[in-house]
Amino acid sequence: MARGELGTAIANIKQHGTISAMGILVIGNWKMNPGSRKDALKLIKLFNAACAKNKNISAVIAPPFPYLSLVTPKKQLKLCAQSFDVEMPLTGGISIPMLKDLKVSYVIVGHSERRAHGETDTQIGVKVTVATQGALKVVVCVGEKERDHSGKYFGTVEAQVLAALKNVTRSQLVNIVIAYEPIWAISSGDGRGETATPDTAHEMKLFIQKVLVGKYGRAAALRVPIIYGGSVNPENASALLGGEVDGFLVGGASIKADAFISILKTAAAYGKK
Ligand code: PEP
Repeated sequence: MARGELGTAIANIKQHGTISAMGILVIGNWKMNPGSRKDALKLIKLFNAACAKNKNISAVIAPPFPYLSLVTPKKQLKLCAQSFDVEMPLTGGISIPMLKDLKVSYVIVGHSERRAHGETDTQIGVKVTVATQGALKVVVCVGEKERDHSGKYFGTVEAQVLAALKNVTRSQLVNIVIAYEPIWAISSGDGRGETATPDTAHEMKLFIQKVLVGKYGRAAALRVPIIYGGSVNPENASALLGGEVDGFLVGGASIKADAFISILKTAAAYGKK
């Protein structure tokens, strides 16, 4: 899409605003951490305590599979799975019914680390279809590897969004969350990678909304939360929320209890405004 056209489309969406009614969504992707069940329990205890102290905090955590059953999900602390499988039989696979049995309510699909290990747009589309049919909330990760001056990365993100949502109907859209995670902004794990600016995140949110409006119409499309991921930390969370993203997907900082709780508090305060 040419820059001029994008500007017009974005102005149009801005004029109509966003009608996402939800609060700020903060999802902590623990990846392959922590290394022991004992440490996982410590984190869960701290997050539960933070929720008990501040009723405005609302967290979603995505621990590795072996720790999912350590969490008792509740209103303020929901469970997310980092991945799942659709092929059957598959040794080592995890199915949607297994996750639902553990009271998991969100799943991540299309994370750049999985894409880097060969997960294709087609496979991602199938996973999104299976998870939405299973009535789970699906966090669809999209994002470009790098940015070029001509704006080709918009086309990359558009293709990822459309492939992931290929079979998702308008009524199933209520279960979709889009996580814009530019790969250049995802840290190597310590939460210190390059971060998008609030304007960068905002511009891409508007672009993704434009793509969704094109497929589903304005009313349904503008209800889809579009969150940002890439080196979110306590220092930049507030500024990034100024970019009007609907929440965060947090990696490195999500397994540092103080850091994640601080991000949750920032989000809670912002969501109340
Ligand atoms: C991620 O891997 O999804 C992520 C956002 O990681 P980080 O916050 O460490 O950049």
